[in-house]
Amino acid sequence: MPNKKQHIVDTFGRVHDYLRISLTERCNLRCFYCMPEEGVQLRDKANFMTSEEVLEIAQTFVEMGVKKIRLTGGEPLIKKDVANLLLKLGELPVELAITTNAVLVDRYIDTFKQAGIKSVNVSLDSLNEESFDKISRRNYFKRIKSNIDLLIKNDFHVKVNAVIIRNLNEHEIPDFIKWTLIDNVHIRFIEFMPFDGNKWNWDKKVSYKEIMEIAYDYFGQEAIQKVEDKKNDTARNYKLQNAKGTFGVIASVTNPFCDTCNRIRLTADGKIKNCLFSQTEIDLLTNLRKKRDIKKLIIESILNKKKERGGAHALDDNFAKTMKNRSMTTIGG
Ligand code: SAM
Ligand code: SF4
Repeated sequence: MPNKKQHIVDTFGRVHDYLRISLTERCNLRCFYCMPEEGVQLRDKANFMTSEEVLEIAQTFVEMGVKKIRLTGGEPLIKKDVANLLLKLGELPVELAITTNAVLVDRYIDTFKQAGIKSVNVSLDSLNEESFDKISRRNYFKRIKSNIDLLIKNDFHVKVNAVIIRNLNEHEIPDFIKWTLIDNVHIRFIEFMPFDGNKWNWDKKVSYKEIMEIAYDYFGQEAIQKVEDKKNDTARNYKLQNAKGTFGVIASVTNPFCDTCNRIRLTADGKIKNCLFSQTEIDLLTNLRKKRDIKKLIIESILNKKKERGGAHALDDNFAKTMKNRSMTTIGG
């Protein structure tokens, strides 16, 4: 029997054993749906966790039952001493994974292997270079695509995340799905979510239902099979007949997966967010530096976790207008 005192369990009985750590708020891309147009305000280095502090906090979470850690950001691979940190985190008794835009993957792929990373999530919102460059406001398409190919060739479990936005890339849904016929790649279409500065509105998101309608219209009902979803999976997954990979939809807006949520987030400045949409945070870093008991604070944070979407009734236009949240790049996606 797990010791409830030590484990991170909320008032709805959800055990939180999956920690997502943001290593930096900064990024080498500027995806418009994630980064505010004006960019992220740069703050003094002292506001952010050092690698030693990341490791110490991660260790504490592991003592409290965390079994999986995913590194994210901003772009995690631009953190200065990331290779060393990956290797150290790789020594913890957890499944270690990373979400990256893949610009620097060729530089770190050997470190991934040494650290025991097996699963890499990569963001790629368009298969068309011009369109991707417009979305990301940079021109790294070829490098990213070849790094994804490199990961697949090296047998990593590769998930490609594509945020689908109306009149921008929904016409590419069939092309993304066709990719799964050729490669062992797992495409996840993500409903566009509202965060600070990303000019979200209800009409811009393309819903789970619409994404699947596009897929069924193109490939036909009989060609698409439902794949059994894992317990804490955020995506509803599908497969084309004879495909090497799968595709799925993360429907955070129209069909959230809160009832099985096992995630807790640590921002690059050392704050816990018990939900992506929670409007409150608890400052672990300052307390760690004051040598206070951070386990107590972790428990306090989880006991305040709301049943759904940080307490918001729905992610609608009203929520987008009134929310007090960070931009995605400063939360850690
Ligand atoms: N830089 C890395 C990357 O792009 O994969 C990791 C951080 S990024 C914030 C993590 C994920 O959040 C990406 O897959 C990105 O597409 C997703 N994301 C960012 N803003 C989003 C939004 N407004 N709605 C839905 N997904 C979003
Ligand atoms: Fe950077 Fe990832 Fe945000 Fe794009 S989605 S701006 S790559 S953090």
